[in-house]
Amino acid sequence: MPERTSYDAVVVGGGHNGLVAAAYLARAGRSVLVLERLDHTGGAAVSTRAFSGVDARLSRYSYLVSLLPPKIVRDLGLRFAVRKRTVSSYTPTVRGGRPTGLLVGGGPDRTRASFAQLTGSDREFAAWQRFYDTTHRLAGRVFPTLTEPLPTRAALRARIDDDATWHALFERPLGELIEETFDDDLIRGVVLTDALIGTFTTAHDPSLRQNRCFLYHVIGGGTGDWDVPIGGMGALTDELADAARRAGAEIVTSCPVTAVATDGRTAEVTCDQGTIGARRVLVNAAPRELARLLGESEPPPAEGAQLKVNMLLTRLPRLRDTGVDPREAFSGTFHIAEGYGQLETAYRQAAAGELPAAPPSEIYCHSLTDPSILGADLVRRGHHTLTLFGLHTPARLFASDTAAAPATRDRLLAATLAQLDAHLAEPLADCLARDAEGRPCIEARSPLDLDRELGLPGGNIFHRELAFPYADEEGAAGDAPARWGVATGHANVLLCGAGAVRGGGVSGIPGHNAAMAVLEEG
Ligand SMILES: Cc1cc2nc3c(=O)[nH]c(=O)nc-3n(C[C@H](O)[C@H](O)[C@H](O)COP(=O)(O)OP(=O)(O)OC[C@H]3O[C@@H](n4cnc5c(N)ncnc54)[C@H](O)[C@@H]3O)c2cc1C
Repeated sequence: MPERTSYDAVVVGGGHNGLVAAAYLARAGRSVLVLERLDHTGGAAVSTRAFSGVDARLSRYSYLVSLLPPKIVRDLGLRFAVRKRTVSSYTPTVRGGRPTGLLVGGGPDRTRASFAQLTGSDREFAAWQRFYDTTHRLAGRVFPTLTEPLPTRAALRARIDDDATWHALFERPLGELIEETFDDDLIRGVVLTDALIGTFTTAHDPSLRQNRCFLYHVIGGGTGDWDVPIGGMGALTDELADAARRAGAEIVTSCPVTAVATDGRTAEVTCDQGTIGARRVLVNAAPRELARLLGESEPPPAEGAQLKVNMLLTRLPRLRDTGVDPREAFSGTFHIAEGYGQLETAYRQAAAGELPAAPPSEIYCHSLTDPSILGADLVRRGHHTLTLFGLHTPARLFASDTAAAPATRDRLLAATLAQLDAHLAEPLADCLARDAEGRPCIEARSPLDLDRELGLPGGNIFHRELAFPYADEEGAAGDAPARWGVATGHANVLLCGAGAVRGGGVSGIPGHNAAMAVLEEG
């Protein structure tokens, strides 16, 4: 039950971004109330004991961190850290009838040797190095702008100061750059995956949604590295909730907001517990939910397209490619059926209303880099977590599934694991641990499951389509919410979640930016 009848700011949603906004505002002396629909905070950034009687705290939805600026960790005094992975990716394949693969990691010599073994020369590795030198430079220039007021397009272009890169990444479909740079289909596919995570699109989409997705995947932290959150995503969110409370914010869970009314100066937020007055409302829920709360028409749908699977294994499976240790292969992002041609085929099949025949996906083992999420007994017995993120399965494909009878999801899960099994020397099913009731430790979520559980519109992990990180001239000259990329159609209602410009991903950036807009306005 909230302690007061009105607040300087009411935050709708206790996802990690809502907590960041609340912590900044409370530290600045504002009265802040966070209302969360679920019985816990964190939204899509949580850790859960997903399997009955098993002491494994899995990052149930999001799992790697790149976009969280160290500035937010410092400003809020968070006790939270990430750890680098020794391998960034491994992609198994078959060449000349022999199982082999591409390993990126273990030092430049190891990576060079893996490229040379796969492609027969040093050409692709040299191209890879040039390509990622460019994205590194880009990251160093763009990432710091994400926690500043939005630059105009011209200002961002000037800051990047490299016309060729600007043209290739902000103006032309990414597929053109990938095809000019790389010859090998597998390597092209590995590069393209960063443009497809959470985004149903293709390399040559003229809308450039693949470029926007790619950008957010290669600029994080000023390097583009994706690191392991120590203790899992719940460690971050719990720290954020503590930081917000320590600063004086109130957090009420199991309290869905049912309506927001505003005249642009003051607002009222209605939930089961009554109606609360607010000078400002910060909305961490998705823009679709905000439209419902205001009684306005919903924004155009932007469905999600991923399958998410969590598993606990009694041991890592052996690989058909004996040139790599499973401990290395699974500690990086393990790409399955993600060749460039395979990705295009899967997209076309899904766009035509079919499940992809060879569903693309990527997996990663958290516990190899950070065993702290497992109980000591599981660590001693060699257990490991495995998390899988499948691509190119839009929400519309699951329309006939219900929570009780998820037939399409189950078919997709079987087809996805078959693609993985094709690269293993033993079936994955033989390696699954069992829960207290003897059931295999595996759970899967379709985009519709994510909509039901988390309120992600159509399962879209970014709340809506990602935007390039700049403003048009009008936005850049607008009021504080417009300049920070958190404006809605109402002066005192701000987005503070993934739906803001520069939202999406576990970053805290829209939470930070909404708080900055409020503090700037006084
Ligand atoms: C399967 C999956 C994997 C992902 N992997 C990664 C990854 O590895 N790395 C990464 O950076 N990002 C990843 N993402 C994306 C990332 O998790 C999200 O973009 C991010 O968590 C969004 O955070 P948020 O705080 O803005 O919103 P959310 O986490 O969506 O939180 C919004 C909160 O608002 C609450 N809410 C909604 N409506 C109401 C209401 N009416 N009243 C009260 N509360 C309400 C919700 O319950 C929720 O708690 C992944 C997402 C998913 C789903």
